[in-house]
Amino acid sequence: MSSPSPSPPKAINQCYMCGLALKKKASGFACESCGKLVCDVHSKKKKENKRICDNCDISSKCNEYRNSTSDRIKEMEDELNGVKKHSRSFIHEIAELDNKIILMTKGLDKKKEEFKSKEDGIQEVINEEKRSNEERLRAIKNLDEAIDTMKESEKDIENKYSKLDKEADEIQEKLKKVLEEIEFLENSLNKKKSDAEKCLRWDSVEKLICKKCTEIFEAPPDRRSVLMRDDKAGPAISGCKTICVSF
Ligand SMILES: [Zn+2]
Ligand SMILES: [Zn+2]
Ligand SMILES: [Zn+2]
Repeated sequence: MSSPSPSPPKAINQCYMCGLALKKKASGFACESCGKLVCDVHSKKKKENKRICDNCDISSKCNEYRNSTSDRIKEMEDELNGVKKHSRSFIHEIAELDNKIILMTKGLDKKKEEFKSKEDGIQEVINEEKRSNEERLRAIKNLDEAIDTMKESEKDIENKYSKLDKEADEIQEKLKKVLEEIEFLENSLNKKKSDAEKCLRWDSVEKLICKKCTEIFEAPPDRRSVLMRDDKAGPAISGCKTICVSF
């Protein structure tokens, strides 16, 4: 809105804003706020149903604006104070959170260390287990080797046994032959004995017997003279039909 600069009043009945002469009552008006005379053009504004001049309108609007602005500034200051209060408590909370974070970080570090030491312990256990596994495997290998060696020596022993068995068989075979020979010898010995016994049964002996045979068999003395009756003929071995023939 262009505000025309007020002209110096020339007459009493002039618009104080533009200097227009107000000849008739209808062409002018007194501002209901400041009471000054103004033309129709500069008195078209209204405030609370009162007709006012442009200057009063502007200053009224300026006041309204100033009031509303100062209210708004006050509100904003209140808001700012609230925000400051909040931010103070935020700062406090942040400091508390920082402390908590520090504590948690410390706790976390401690847990990390504990975990690390536990991990080390577990690794140690795993290593120990690995070592004893290796030892067990070595022991199993040694046992396998020992079993192989035992199998080998078992084979050797079996071979020796079968050799001994063969030798025993041979020995038994020889023994059998020897026993057979012994039996044969015993049989012939028994036969000879029985023959001899026959000879010794004097009743059945032939009357003719040489002196030598009589001595050998120690014939009873009462019979000896009878048996030796032909001995006068000298050592007639050919005449001895008993012992000499048997032997
Ligand atoms: Zn005017
Ligand atoms: Zn006015
Ligand atoms: Zn004889």
